[in-house]
Amino acid sequence: MAVKLDRQQVAGQLQRLTDWTLQGDQIERLFTNRLDPTEHPYFAEVAGLRVSAHLLLRRNGDAIQFVPLHMRAWHAGESTWRGQARCNDFSVGIELEGGGGDDGYSDAQYAGLVELTRALRAVLPLRDVAGHSDIAPGRKTDPGERFDWARFLSALALK
Ligand SMILES: [Zn+2]
Repeated sequence: MAVKLDRQQVAGQLQRLTDWTLQGDQIERLFTNRLDPTEHPYFAEVAGLRVSAHLLLRRNGDAIQFVPLHMRAWHAGESTWRGQARCNDFSVGIELEGGGGDDGYSDAQYAGLVELTRALRAVLPLRDVAGHSDIAPGRKTDPGERFDWARFLSALALK
């Protein structure tokens, strides 16, 4: 069961990282194992952990892909959606840069997320869009209360 424990740990660490430090290219370096452990005590803690999302949406709206869509990324951890456990097995993971502070998410991120979701829908049989906080309530909080679901979903529907 080492893998299961690992994934749970990884998800918790990624949550903390996305809530707290997503700055510059730090998450890109984490996802690609290029985070310098000497840069911050927390980086030493997470160095060597396997964490990943398929995509990262930067504040400027750029999407960066880390994991091929046909492969599993480790973004959800222990999770359930509509009665199905282990969301990593059947979901595309997208992390949004920042969003935890007063600035919330940027206009470019909303626009980029709509485009990205449309693009994913074109190639995958997507049924839902859910927050990490929806699939792992109590453990994950992103995208958080500053994410405007109505804005995103209505923009998606209009496209
Ligand atoms: Zn997340």
